[in-house]
Amino acid sequence: VYILAIESSCDDTAAAILHNSQVLSNVVARQSVHEQYGGVVPELASRAHQQNIVPVVDVALQKAGVEKQQLSAVAFTQGPGLMGSLLVGSSFAKSAAMALGVPLIAVNHMQAHILAHFIDEDGFDKPTFPFLAMTISGGHTQIVRVDSYFSMEVIGETTDDAVGEAFDKSAKILGLPYPGGPLVDKYAQLGNPKAYAFTKPQVPGLNFSFSGLKTQILYFVQRQLATDPDFIQNNMNDICASIQYTIINILMDKLKMAVKETGITQVAIGGGVSANSGIRNTLKEAEKKYGWKTYIPKFEYTTDNAAMIGIVGYHKFLEGQFNDSSVTSKARIEL
Ligand code: ATP
Ligand code: FE
Repeated sequence: VYILAIESSCDDTAAAILHNSQVLSNVVARQSVHEQYGGVVPELASRAHQQNIVPVVDVALQKAGVEKQQLSAVAFTQGPGLMGSLLVGSSFAKSAAMALGVPLIAVNHMQAHILAHFIDEDGFDKPTFPFLAMTISGGHTQIVRVDSYFSMEVIGETTDDAVGEAFDKSAKILGLPYPGGPLVDKYAQLGNPKAYAFTKPQVPGLNFSFSGLKTQILYFVQRQLATDPDFIQNNMNDICASIQYTIINILMDKLKMAVKETGITQVAIGGGVSANSGIRNTLKEAEKKYGWKTYIPKFEYTTDNAAMIGIVGYHKFLEGQFNDSSVTSKARIEL
């Protein structure tokens, strides 16, 4: 089975070709136009997707060495995401499926962040059901109980900001460019995580909250700047390490609680923030520390990519879960 997968939910235009569970090509065109605005501008994202989509798909086919006539199905991101961005991917996928006379498969982006673990990769084990997945990304923070490919239940989630936003907004306070998450990670690796103490929010059950942390960091930085105008420049590594340490502690507290409540000790992470070196190390250590079996995605399958859409497409293909061209994009969509 050869799947062409398209991902265009936010600001990356991505296409991948899979042969069964194996990724033959995985192409991402990042949109740099948003940097100067400090965040994604939906209208510009949509326009850039329109410019990128045909070349990105062409490159994916070329790199895979696959002819379009060989394709068995076209999978695309139905949602959640920015409507104008989603529509570019869905229109392309619908036309391509129709022109080639192959099935069309609509994929949930958050399901894809989780099922990315089922891509064949040397040195990466696949989880067995049931397992817990913590999806940590730019728009979501969820703990999901995964019982099979298509039956999963959100057992905890953020009540306000997503963890990716916590990284990006903290970075913005420090004057770092968007998206700041990867930069916080970079500086954090050189700093002392216990240099500054931030308090963790009190949220009941398995839910999260990150908006208070952002405010706490803002006030802390403002207070320091009042007496030392160079506070940020002189302490960037320590500030970033302390912020990251706090965020990881918040995530790990809830993950430990979820393991305790469900009795499931297989734990996977997914989504853009699972690229973070601190969370990756912490989760690896949890194997020895708590006796969990943990699954950390290959770096290129953490932030948005089409390979993860393709693996969901492949499993839907096997089950005959197809869509007709009346399927609509959805900015918000449940798991
Ligand atoms: P969603 O998947 O919820 O719809 P999204 O697709 O916009 O949101 P992703 O691409 O999955 O989000 O993740 C992007 C987020 O990941 C951004 O907030 C970015 O800052 C964050 N991120 C990426 N790399 C790192 C890193 N190394 N450390 C911390 N955060 C990171
Ligand atoms: Fe995403």
